[in-house]
Amino acid sequence: MLKSRLFYLLSKYNLRINSDLGQNFLIVDDIIKREIERAKIKANESVLEIGPGLGFLTDELSKYAKKVYAVEKDSRLVEILQKEYSWENVEIIHGDALKVEFPQFDKIVSNLPYQISSPITFKFLKYDFKRAVLIYQLEFAQRMIAKPGDKNYSRLSVMVQAKADVELVEKIGKGAFYPKPKVDSAVIILEPKPKEEQIELDERLVKALFQHRRKKASKALKDSYHMLGLTKEEFKKIREIFEKIPHAEKRVFQLSVEEIKDIEEFLMKEQILS
Ligand code: SAM
Repeated sequence: MLKSRLFYLLSKYNLRINSDLGQNFLIVDDIIKREIERAKIKANESVLEIGPGLGFLTDELSKYAKKVYAVEKDSRLVEILQKEYSWENVEIIHGDALKVEFPQFDKIVSNLPYQISSPITFKFLKYDFKRAVLIYQLEFAQRMIAKPGDKNYSRLSVMVQAKADVELVEKIGKGAFYPKPKVDSAVIILEPKPKEEQIELDERLVKALFQHRRKKASKALKDSYHMLGLTKEEFKKIREIFEKIPHAEKRVFQLSVEEIKDIEEFLMKEQILS
């Protein structure tokens, strides 16, 4: 049903799909239904959606939420949404989701444009909200949920899990979208941890470590000292300190978020990081 509606709208507005904006439209009703169920939207809650596209998910969200804020970058789609729907509780925000200030919201439900997956996720985590149900590229989703020691455990896993609980709840094949993307997708539920449990990590340190994910932590940092802002001369004077970092013998891909925090605190005490 969604597929025929999509083709109807594409032809009515003579719309050419812009793949640079990650325009792969979800055309399976059941997946939209499950996204809504998983979001557990209460009647008094507001929902943020990034990239409403032709409004299929937005339309369902509008039936459950008090208010939906839908941020769309493509002005052609904004115009179509305004013409096709007469929602009273949906505010369409025309702009780049990476640049606009979000209004206050309780939940996020989005089929994300994949090219902004990383920056938009970190932007979400700066806001105070209860739960997000998000569709990402499968490979990205697998990195988000990977645990220490997993082959997909990466900087992204560390930075996301320091702030939130993440769960991959459903894999989605390419055929669920039009046009078909090149990659499979997955639904992620992301719930920010209570503020007091969130761990702030120095991104330079995490970057410097994961530059050499298979090396021992001490060696990885010695090999990327410049990423900590040290000059060659400064590094030469203090290089033996890196042997004394906590968990020095562990391989980077085995370090938990808490262990990376231990390393950060040690380097701050030694005034290598500030
Ligand atoms: N929600 C629709 C659906 O599920 O079929 C469309 C999802 S499509 C994967 C991504 C949408 O995000 C497109 O409508 C695209 O124009 C929009 N978009 C891409 N980059 C954006 C950005 N930086 N800010 C806001 N919207 C963006």
